[in-house]
Amino acid sequence: MRLLLVEDDRMVGEALRAALRLEGHAVDWVRDVAAAQAALAGERFELILLDRGLPLGGPGPRRAERGDGLSLLRALRDRGDDTPVIILTARDEQPERVGGLDAGADDYLVKPFDLDELAARIRAVARRHAGVARSRLSCGPVDLDPVTRQASLHGRPVTLSAREFAVLEALMRRPGAMLSRSQLEDRLYGWGDAIESNAVSVYVHQLRRKLGAGFIVTVRGLGYAVSAEGASGLEGAPGRSGEPGSDGRGGPEGA
Ligand code: CA
Repeated sequence: MRLLLVEDDRMVGEALRAALRLEGHAVDWVRDVAAAQAALAGERFELILLDRGLPLGGPGPRRAERGDGLSLLRALRDRGDDTPVIILTARDEQPERVGGLDAGADDYLVKPFDLDELAARIRAVARRHAGVARSRLSCGPVDLDPVTRQASLHGRPVTLSAREFAVLEALMRRPGAMLSRSQLEDRLYGWGDAIESNAVSVYVHQLRRKLGAGFIVTVRGLGYAVSAEGASGLEGAPGRSGEPGSDGRGGPEGA
């Protein structure tokens, strides 16, 4: 998932970003209210992790003054944006929690929190947002469990790298729907990450080798979709479906 992390504490932010990347998320990290506003104006995120006590930032004389993440959340909801938000805060008094949820937060975590718990809550909030009660994804012979991060083909486990998993998960959340290469890149990379030019093709190529050539179809050179009908089991003939930009050289295993 592509996440926006709004957190001014450098140590907390670095630890969270590292942990979330290990989970396979693309993380953009901003450290004040103004930077968060700019990020939200220009990009679409699948989930926002929002600290409450934040500097205002920006060019004005009040940049060092303290703001409240809740003002960001209220502005987001006021303009009809329902991107899921989990509030991260040290303020654990009950009225603060109520205020956060009333402002439109989907969940609330009080620092210090366990990283496994955060990861689980991200999955739960994303699931509720997608209107999917169960966590397992299934399409044709392929099953994916975002909780345990295990994939299987015809019931047999398949080993995937974190980024292969991220590409497959994005496609399997909407079977049959096309995702463009740039939409998939958004799932894999945050700002400042170096994007290898044909990374998505390479991950798709690896997934076709592991899951069968027909499971991920190329849509007129515009993007990719998973297809239960096209699933062809284990024989795996890479590159067969006219993958643009992939000449069968293979390439690096996923990061
Ligand atoms: Ca803070």
